[in-house]
Amino acid sequence: MSITANDPKRKTWLDTPKDTDFPIQNIPFGVFLTRDDIITIGTRIGDYAIDLGALHQLGYFEGIPLTDDIFLQDTLNDFISDGKKTWRLVRNRIADIFDAENSKLKENKDHRNTVLFTLDEIEMQLPVQVGDYTDFYSSKEHATNVGTMFRDPENALLPNWLHMPVGYHGRSSSIIPSDIPVHRPIGQILPKGASQPVLAPSKRVDFELEMAFITTDANVLGEPIPIEEAEDYIFGMVLFNDWSARDIQTWEYVPLGPFLAKNFASSVSPWIVTLDALEPFRTTGPKPEKELLPYLQSKGKKAFDIKLEVALKPENSEETTVSKSNFKYMYWNMSQQLAHHTVNGCPVNSGDMMGSGTISGPTPDSYGSMLELSWKGEKPIKLNDGSERKFIEDNDTVIMRGYCEAKDRRIGFGEVRTKLLPVFEPKKK
Ligand code: CA
Repeated sequence: MSITANDPKRKTWLDTPKDTDFPIQNIPFGVFLTRDDIITIGTRIGDYAIDLGALHQLGYFEGIPLTDDIFLQDTLNDFISDGKKTWRLVRNRIADIFDAENSKLKENKDHRNTVLFTLDEIEMQLPVQVGDYTDFYSSKEHATNVGTMFRDPENALLPNWLHMPVGYHGRSSSIIPSDIPVHRPIGQILPKGASQPVLAPSKRVDFELEMAFITTDANVLGEPIPIEEAEDYIFGMVLFNDWSARDIQTWEYVPLGPFLAKNFASSVSPWIVTLDALEPFRTTGPKPEKELLPYLQSKGKKAFDIKLEVALKPENSEETTVSKSNFKYMYWNMSQQLAHHTVNGCPVNSGDMMGSGTISGPTPDSYGSMLELSWKGEKPIKLNDGSERKFIEDNDTVIMRGYCEAKDRRIGFGEVRTKLLPVFEPKKK
């Protein structure tokens, strides 16, 4: 089935800002609370949020096999379970409803007032109930930088790294949408030169610039997903800030890997941009440097050209862009990650979230964490307001943005924006 929603010539009758991340060719999916305190599944065109539950009740999805309440839910999991064919039918239909040539909804004021919201009338929610969250470690530049800093510049990559997409199982309970603030975590830290650890607030709170993909139900226990089918099970992507506490991480991570340094929060952008919408921005990823085992050999353009930026905004001050990276730098692509994840028969469900790992580029201004940007704190970053940062300070806001751009088209993710609050103070009794 062709993706008619992606037609670059299509225009919409809605007023959309020039250079919006959300032209009619995007049609992402999200969940929001409306002005009437009703939770619904929706999409976004320009600066309008569109209530898909209401559109469905009004009959605009007639002819598409959807249950009556598919959009009247507080998560996208059931819709994602419906599979790729349904996602395509729905995106194509939404594109038709808002096409400049179609006057049906445009001319119906009552219907328009029911389904359209301005962004200040809604509150975005977490788009999926994340059953399982896995985080990969798939940027060669990032793995090399970290290996150089903490182990040995001569052997920065561990022997397995070029043979498989290394990953670990994270925790889904602390995945939160944009605009929810995060407290500075407390944890066990081994102070420099000390032989005994202390329990103290982390002094090295960091962001990790990542993207995450969201899956549909893909396989049953025991069944691997072949690499050439992997993309059929990927619904879409979000920006992902995998908050990290470097001093807690340094002390705890041997031998089983990250634990409390990583699970206090991960923040996601609220609109899931579908893999279908990203089709025009496919590109070729880095060439494998080692002969890969057959189950990891991917063909064709499996990388995506997504420009990424991180900005830091101290309280009551302007923001400073501290990093510019790109999703295409990933050494391991999403198909390889999903094939590897399931090669042992591990089942993947609707709403599972797979983080890419920190996306660092080849140059120092494209590194995806403060750990790398300030090189362990040895080279503080200068901000526009004259202050300096080695890591994130209390009341700083971290903003990540991402978009694809080619000639006359742009498809974006909006942003994920999170403020770091001071250590949590228990309520006084
Ligand atoms: Ca991570």
